[in-house]
Amino acid sequence: MARYTNMQFLQFLLMDVHPVKDLFSYERFAHLDEEQAWMMIESAKLLADQEMAPYFKEMDEHPAKYDGNGNVITHPCLKKIIPAAAAQGWIGASASFEHGGMQIPEMIFGTAHHIFQAANNGVEGYLGLSAGAAGLITSFGTKEQIDSYVPKIFSGEWQGTMALTEPQAGSSLSDITTNAKPFENGTYKINGQKIFISGGQHEACSNFIHLTLARIEGAPAGTKGISLFIVPKFRIGSDGNLMYNDVYCAGDFQKMGQRGYATTHLSFGDNNDCIGYLVGEPHKGLTYMFQMMNGARISVGLCAASVAMAAYQASLQYCLERPQGRLASEKDPTKPPTLIINHADVQRMLFTQKAIAEGSISLGIECNRLYDLTHAATGDEKHAYWLLLEILTPIVKTYPSEQGSRSAALAIQTLGGYGFTTDFPVQQHYRDLKIMSLYEGTTGIQSLDLLGRKVTMEKGKALQLLSTVIMESVQQAMLVESLASSAKLVQDEIKGVQEVMNQLAGYAAAGDIEKYLADATVFLEMMSYIVIGWQWLKLALAAAKKLEQVGLSQSNIAFYQGKIHTLQFYCKYELPHTAACKATLLNKLELTRTNNFELFD
Ligand SMILES: Cc1cc2nc3c(=O)[nH]c(=O)nc-3n(C[C@H](O)[C@H](O)[C@H](O)COP(=O)(O)OP(=O)(O)OC[C@H]3O[C@@H](n4cnc5c(N)ncnc54)[C@H](O)[C@@H]3O)c2cc1C
Repeated sequence: MARYTNMQFLQFLLMDVHPVKDLFSYERFAHLDEEQAWMMIESAKLLADQEMAPYFKEMDEHPAKYDGNGNVITHPCLKKIIPAAAAQGWIGASASFEHGGMQIPEMIFGTAHHIFQAANNGVEGYLGLSAGAAGLITSFGTKEQIDSYVPKIFSGEWQGTMALTEPQAGSSLSDITTNAKPFENGTYKINGQKIFISGGQHEACSNFIHLTLARIEGAPAGTKGISLFIVPKFRIGSDGNLMYNDVYCAGDFQKMGQRGYATTHLSFGDNNDCIGYLVGEPHKGLTYMFQMMNGARISVGLCAASVAMAAYQASLQYCLERPQGRLASEKDPTKPPTLIINHADVQRMLFTQKAIAEGSISLGIECNRLYDLTHAATGDEKHAYWLLLEILTPIVKTYPSEQGSRSAALAIQTLGGYGFTTDFPVQQHYRDLKIMSLYEGTTGIQSLDLLGRKVTMEKGKALQLLSTVIMESVQQAMLVESLASSAKLVQDEIKGVQEVMNQLAGYAAAGDIEKYLADATVFLEMMSYIVIGWQWLKLALAAAKKLEQVGLSQSNIAFYQGKIHTLQFYCKYELPHTAACKATLLNKLELTRTNNFELFD
């Protein structure tokens, strides 16, 4: 059985680094305890071992494919996996009791999904999409809409999707043109094209509930004129029977990665018989959709981290088995070769992967914890958690996506030539990972969100709060001898952020908003290195506390010391990238905002 995640690490995260038990003091989660939570994670692992991991390679080799007749043929395993995962609650478990959920924390739900993503990210997407779509209906739909769609989505019979993108409108959703014409009975006639729709009509589910953005006739231009509709493939007729709702799957996209996860082109209303049901109020669709998108952004970041983790585990396993060459200090050529894990440069590649993958998973769980707290807490406390989550969302989406790709490339590099072959899974991890920096808002769009919206919201309060919580960890770490020097390095980088903000604020104050945002991606990169440094401080702090216990086994001591070691590695090899970003941001030479390129004939 291939190793794809580390259960000891997950237990450490949930019990020590971001203690899930803190949530159980809130009424929303008071029905749970640590033991139950961990049992759920263990059952998710069993499901992933038995039903998901075995199909990881096969789904890549036999991708989802359009049949030329309105359907996408998916791997047969999905017909078994989706209901099995649904039966364990992995579509609806985090929903409230009143909506048929088990009201478990998103931390637990997200950890289980991390396991699925690491085992087979092509399968997990179908489950995650349905969970997000159902969440949108329970948050903003009517009781009738909730009763009509949510139980079927939770059971895995029906697939939920999010249908935003159109051929001419990807990053810029304000340009969508899908049309909604009102009928007197309050429903709408939908007409338009959506492309790149994940989990769109395939054969593993019997109906598809497309959460669709469209423009009601006469609506204002731009984002303020976008509404949200439930548009099923088969609508429920007045007699209660299902009837075709004129949503046709016109084709699919063959991709470099996530090949088992169907990506479809949907055509709404070719025969003028596509009915949509408005969710919430007209023209508020994008605001509602952002709820799903924010959750999806955390989930995509966690997925990138999970795939990077799986690649790291595969490369680690290889390094423990592959002999090659001798250490420079070994002069005797008749001595047997050493395992490659003993070469310093291979260790550098492994530690880099570990720092990226585990640091990113920790950030994903941190964000899920904040999400839970925004639902469980009240008043000022709730607002503070919300602000933190808002500012961390573009970072949790982007750092794992971008650095996860680098990490998976290092996994290939670690295997040498074998890494490039299809005999080993790391090339698939690398291919699967690339999409994460594109969908749910590209890196460029996340960066604009961070610097343009999140940093400036409530007069910079979110950024201040983030600095405060990071400084709390820094100060705690300063008191631990083995962590103090790393804590000092993180602290120095936080001070640098203020210097950068002062300069950027000058551009904004002068009214040059384009200049303020021109290097938003470099800004996000700088912030990400600091935020992951913060996560490593938290991991190492929890490890140092564990090491104070008496009677630990040798393997546990090695595990906890490994966290402190990786913090130190991160601070020596990765954190210094912050300074490079800062130098670029402070450099006043303007080299972008020009089309000075040549396209050769
Ligand atoms: C496999 C796959 C699955 C998908 N699943 C779904 C789905 O389920 N539902 C759905 O609705 N969509 C889905 N998408 C669509 C996805 O969200 C979009 O592809 C993505 O948002 C980018 O849009 P685009 O492809 O039109 O690229 P564009 O928007 O054309 O972007 C091209 C480049 O320009 C940059 N750019 C664009 N605008 C700006 C700007 N204002 N400032 C700076 N840079 C900018 C981008 O960062 C990018 O680098 C999926 C896409 C793929 C490939």
